[in-house]
Amino acid sequence: MRTISLLGSTGSVGRSAIAVLDELRDTHRVVSLVAHTNTDLLLKQAEQLRPEVVGVVDVTAGRACETALRAFGCRVIVGPDAAVQVLRERRPDLVLAAITGAAGLPSSLEAVKLGATLALANKEALVMAGSPVMALAKANCASIVPVDSEHSAVFQSIGGEPIERVRRIFLTASGGPFADLPAAEFATVTPEQALRHPTWQMGRKITIDSASMMNKALEIVEAHWLFQLESERIDVLVHRQSIVHSMVEFVDGSILAQLGVPSMTVPIRYALSYPSRSNTREGYFDLGKFAKLTFEAPDHTRFPALRLGHDVARAGGLAGAVLNASNEIAVEAFLARKTSFDRIPAVAGAVLERMTNVSHPTLDQILAADAWAREETRRCLSI
Ligand code: NDP
Repeated sequence: MRTISLLGSTGSVGRSAIAVLDELRDTHRVVSLVAHTNTDLLLKQAEQLRPEVVGVVDVTAGRACETALRAFGCRVIVGPDAAVQVLRERRPDLVLAAITGAAGLPSSLEAVKLGATLALANKEALVMAGSPVMALAKANCASIVPVDSEHSAVFQSIGGEPIERVRRIFLTASGGPFADLPAAEFATVTPEQALRHPTWQMGRKITIDSASMMNKALEIVEAHWLFQLESERIDVLVHRQSIVHSMVEFVDGSILAQLGVPSMTVPIRYALSYPSRSNTREGYFDLGKFAKLTFEAPDHTRFPALRLGHDVARAGGLAGAVLNASNEIAVEAFLARKTSFDRIPAVAGAVLERMTNVSHPTLDQILAADAWAREETRRCLSI
């Protein structure tokens, strides 16, 4: 039995993972769950999965459901540090890191410190702290298996080839809901419009990131750390059908791709089963229904976030933490109607220009840069 910790079990990725794990129950056992505030769903999940430990990050929500969770036989950990404490309390074989944003960094770091396999959905952890996360994974022999569909596609396409044989990778992007929106209209986009993604069902933050293409910028940085590729070897292609999840070009001119329906259960299943593969009960993909697969170069003028992704991958150091933090604050402000959609990449770019970088930052320096960028972004947006 492979033991699994599900961090962010109540989110979009977490819920998809539970559906996959239901099919894998003969080989995988969930030993812990962590959520932030959604205790109604967390209680249902605890009743279904009977984990040994449950963590609730929000103190009020956690105290309110402690007794009910204990009735399901779970030990309960409540508080801001719950995700890390849960991993220490019950060390799993594999951690699915599906907490959203910078809040996922401490537990992703803890997973690699413990030498567990890190099935990483929480791309922000690598964007912020790629250097320490990768170094700790290496030092503790922890594997990192990407859950982000593009990175899963690249990971699968590279297979066992050494990275020197990869000439470049192509991260595909659906283009989001504003793929054809004229530049002049980006300032008046509403949160409702931005939350309407054409091909993927995801949490709110990543859906806004997809609409601004900041998600692709974060993915460029994620790929840089994960595959140890320079920014120049990472290209983005708009592929509206979201069938080709990404591609790898090798030095001999061959290009390998991974294809499938746009469903997160595919990369989640792959990460949970790695290095093996498991049968799906969801049905198989009919490529004949997708007669037309198109690829276009992205429009950097309408989507300036993309350039930031390349700049940050090139700069390294603290730039990822600054980009991520600034974006998180700007997205929250946009969802709260306190700033316009086009200000999201603009403010992140302005904050990046003001930062002082260091080349091999410690974790404390990364956390300080994160705090500085949040404050600086609030100041720029006057919120
Ligand atoms: P959701 O917003 O749907 O879910 C987020 C999860 O994190 C919830 O379980 C939430 O708990 C929990 N959470 C939120 N804040 C905190 C906190 N401060 N401390 C601990 N837990 C917290 O996000 P998604 O599932 O969409 O995304 C999760 C991660 O996966 C992100 O990093 C995203 O970029 C990445 N990803 C997502 C994809 C998708 O298809 N959704 C695709 C590829 C990557 P609660 O519900 O209680 O608030």
